[in-house]
Amino acid sequence: MPEGPFFLFDRTRDANVLLLRSVMSLPRSCELENYKEALERFGHVSKTPEGGAMWGLLAEGAAVPCGLVAVSRRDLAVILGQRLFLRAGAAFQMMSLYADNRFCGRCGALMEDCEAEPARVCLGCGRMVFPSLSPAMIVAVEKEGRLLLGHNASFPEGRYSVLAGFVEPGETVEQAVEREVYEESGIRVKNIRYAGSQPWPFPSSMMLGFRADWESGEPVPDGTEITDVRWFSPYDLPDLPPRISISRRLIDGWLARSNA
Ligand SMILES: [Zn+2]
Repeated sequence: MPEGPFFLFDRTRDANVLLLRSVMSLPRSCELENYKEALERFGHVSKTPEGGAMWGLLAEGAAVPCGLVAVSRRDLAVILGQRLFLRAGAAFQMMSLYADNRFCGRCGALMEDCEAEPARVCLGCGRMVFPSLSPAMIVAVEKEGRLLLGHNASFPEGRYSVLAGFVEPGETVEQAVEREVYEESGIRVKNIRYAGSQPWPFPSSMMLGFRADWESGEPVPDGTEITDVRWFSPYDLPDLPPRISISRRLIDGWLARSNA
C-alpha cells in the first residue's frame, strides 16, 4: 500500500469536492481503516512523479466522516500548494476512470481494474479504457509590446485571459492555435512556439502553452464564448487568472520580458 496522502472524493455533493481534515491537511493513506466503512471504493495512484497515493470515493448518501470537511478541488492549490494540487488531479482522474467505467460502453458487461496498467478492462469483450486526457492549447499572442486577452463568458466580470481551446481530431496543436485564435478573436498569428504545459484535471485537460506573434487582423470577439477581446499593455492590465494556472504563467512571462 502506498504511503502518502489519501485523496477522498465526494461525488454526491459535487464531483470536484475533496475531503480535508478540519485543520486543512489531507488524510494519510495509513488512516484508510478510519474511512473504509464510508467508502464505495478506494484505489491506488501508482504513477505520480512523487510516488504512490491513494484515492477513495465516498458511498452515495454516506455522511462526511467525522473530522473531515469538504473543499473544492479548485481551492486546493491555494490551501495545499501546487504539488498536492497536481497529485489530487491524478487521483481525481483515477477515481473518474473507475466511476465512469463500471460497465463496458461497447457490450454492457462489468468492468474491473486492470492488474498491469492504470486502466479498466471489460470482463465480457476485453475492451480496455485508460484515464482520459484531452489536449488543449493556450496561447499568449503578442503585438508590439501588447498582449491579446479575452473575456470568456464564463469568467467573473472584469477578468481577462489568454485564449485557449481544445485540439480537434486530425489537427496538430499548432493548427489548433491558429484556428482557435482566429475563431475567437479574428486575429491571424505566426511564429508559434511551445512554452510549457500543465495538467488541468477539470475534468481531464492537458494544457499545452504557446507564444505567438500577431500577423494580421483586428480583435473581434466571437460573441459567444468570448464576449470581449483586446490588446493590453503592461500598464493597463485587467483582473487576471489565479497564479496556479498556466494562463497566468504565460501572462507573467510576457510581463517579465516586457520589463526586461
Ligand atoms: Zn465489453
